Amino acid sequence: MFLSEGLSINKAGHLLVENCDTVELAEKFGTPLYVMSENTIRKNCRLFSKSMKQNYKNSLVIFASKALNCLEICRIVNDEGLGLDVVSGGELYTAKKAGFPMDRVFFHGNNKTSDELKMALESKVGRIIVDNVFELDELDELAGKMGVKADIMFRIKPGVDAHTHDFVKTGQIDSKFGFALENGEAFEAVKYTTKLKNVNLTGLHCHIGSQIFDDEPFIAAAEVMLKLYVKIKKELNITLSDLNLGGGFGIKYIESDDPMAYDKFMNTVSNVIHDFCSVNSIDVPRILIEPGRAIVGEAGTTLYTVGAIKEIENIRNYVFVNGGMGDNPRYALYNADYSAIIANKADATADYTATIAGKCCESGDLIQEDTKIAKPEKGDILAVLSTGAYNYSMSSNYNRIPRPAMVMVNEDKARVVIKRETYDDIIKNDI
Ligand SMILES: *Cc1c(COP(=O)(O)O)cnc(C)c1O
Repeated sequence: MFLSEGLSINKAGHLLVENCDTVELAEKFGTPLYVMSENTIRKNCRLFSKSMKQNYKNSLVIFASKALNCLEICRIVNDEGLGLDVVSGGELYTAKKAGFPMDRVFFHGNNKTSDELKMALESKVGRIIVDNVFELDELDELAGKMGVKADIMFRIKPGVDAHTHDFVKTGQIDSKFGFALENGEAFEAVKYTTKLKNVNLTGLHCHIGSQIFDDEPFIAAAEVMLKLYVKIKKELNITLSDLNLGGGFGIKYIESDDPMAYDKFMNTVSNVIHDFCSVNSIDVPRILIEPGRAIVGEAGTTLYTVGAIKEIENIRNYVFVNGGMGDNPRYALYNADYSAIIANKADATADYTATIAGKCCESGDLIQEDTKIAKPEKGDILAVLSTGAYNYSMSSNYNRIPRPAMVMVNEDKARVVIKRETYDDIIKNDI
């Protein structure tokens, strides 16, 4: 059994997030409950920023807010000096309301609506990451009408295999994201942009996948991208100033996950980039990276209350919790790994094989199958670890179940940063 960053067990055998007893948090705020460790989030932000500063003259760490976006997260990430990726009008709106500086906002997405493009231009976001020629033409026209020039980057498919799960693999030519590199589409788009009056191409972007554990795919992607920079310089005499290598840094969900230390990661990739640029006589561009999961994933723990337990002999033991795929759809979507622990007896031996199931009317509503926990009883508090990324942000009201509250823990204090939804919230748009 491993514990995520920021977690420990006290003398009473209770699981702590920083110095807050999770059993008391469950009592005070109710369950299901998303618990975030503020100091873990800040520590992760600093780890990335520091190593980027050490490795490059000019760099920016951008938090991919699709992993977790709410006002307080935007404030914390801003306070740490990071940039912010958004992929929708809703994420952009949240960032604006949180007072996030718009020049550090990067707008992504493969099919931004006209309204979203307008909103991005009106908000003066730092960069719009253009996904395809349709969007490029529309943006050029919109910017022209508004009398502005849009700073843009292109999303490129570098064709690098990130050795990861099929569903979260996004670097290949058969991907809905971006311009393909191997068939010349990306280069042609750069060339085409020189004819457009209202956009200014500052660089290229790639994101090769998620939950990546080693530096090889990043190095491969960086080299492929930089080769294109050289070609663009030679043939079009254009020097691109930004290079965004995306996110995807792996985190620990289960004991056997072994992600590479991020600062070591940065260092290796940086050496390759500096060598490549000096051999090919190009300036090292500003390097951007976009961790999402690696900033907030391990900082999150979800607390549930155990309900009924169904032991089906020689088959499996179902342990029901008062949440499920509504607050964490990742097992239902792609069999994501998670570790669980009974928070009120966190020091007890985990010798019981449990299939943790939610309360939705869906057989696939599982959090984890055949995982080891201490023998559970009705009323226990079950904690699922490393749920800070893609849980709240992917949550739904399936079965009209209200979304849980989120609390932010800082040492021995906990504050609500997202209120629990009520039944009235559930019907608020019904007519
Ligand atoms: C999802 C995504 C990220 C973040 O991925 P993580 O695995 O959470 O680090 C970064 N950039 C882009 C473009 C993405 O789509």
